[in-house]
Amino acid sequence: MKAVHLGNLTVDRVEESLLPGIEALAMFSDCTAEHLERHRKWLEPDYLESGTGRLMISLHSWVIRTGRHTILVDTCGGNDKDRPAFPKFHQKQTPWLERLNSLGIDPASVDFVMCTHLHVDHAGWNTRLENGRWVPTFPNARYLMSRREHDFWHDRAAAPDRGGVNAGTYEDSVLPVVEQGLALMTDEAYQIDDDLLMEPAPGHTPGHCVLKAGSGHHQAVFSGDLCHSPLQIHYPDWNSRFCEQPDVARLTRRRVLEHCCERRALIFPAHFGGAHFGRVEAAGQGFNYRAGDQPG
Ligand SMILES: [Zn+2]
Repeated sequence: MKAVHLGNLTVDRVEESLLPGIEALAMFSDCTAEHLERHRKWLEPDYLESGTGRLMISLHSWVIRTGRHTILVDTCGGNDKDRPAFPKFHQKQTPWLERLNSLGIDPASVDFVMCTHLHVDHAGWNTRLENGRWVPTFPNARYLMSRREHDFWHDRAAAPDRGGVNAGTYEDSVLPVVEQGLALMTDEAYQIDDDLLMEPAPGHTPGHCVLKAGSGHHQAVFSGDLCHSPLQIHYPDWNSRFCEQPDVARLTRRRVLEHCCERRALIFPAHFGGAHFGRVEAAGQGFNYRAGDQPG
């Protein structure tokens, strides 16, 4: 993907993987075979594997450069992590860090790592393995996360299921950052830079946040897991099976999508294939997704 220029900001994408993943019918309990057939034409091949029911799932981070700061939004699954409860993330080896380097970004130069939430696929590269120990990958960064999110996963790590499919993530990808004094835990909205505002957007997880970026005519929202597929833009009441607070997630999704629509803000989700980002336009009870940044 070519860099996106948004006023004073430059946005790049760092891919970990782009593969067919979970079945749409398993991901969204509201989705039926009839829905898939109705939308298959525009979903294939970018968002739905051709001829199957599997969602195309991208795992990527967004890098924002403001001229003053370098900010990383989410850090994918990471390498070398033990994830027996989620084989897709178990002992992964990908060149994610090399891809970040190829953008001219030295990990030591990253100023902020913003975690939209602390799921297994969003916090992995917070740390890397060095001589058998988990160390922060970005030694000079402040790692932004909501306090509510941190506390939720801190408690889940001590629960009998250790966080379910996310088991291990808190211990190897969050705790080392907290212990090094690099975590900056937010209670409300947090202004990172003139043009960057981290805001609570709960529901997918209790402390899930989005990042509103830009100014004037150049606006964007880095939306984390507000939507896993453009189908949820079309049907904003559809939650994923991983949404922890279904009613809150639906309200938040609609609120943020309305914001994107009213401000003509580009949306940068964490898992969309195709152009990986796009615009949101009002359409009946829901919205339409227009991939890329061509004018509507
Ligand atoms: Zn995710």
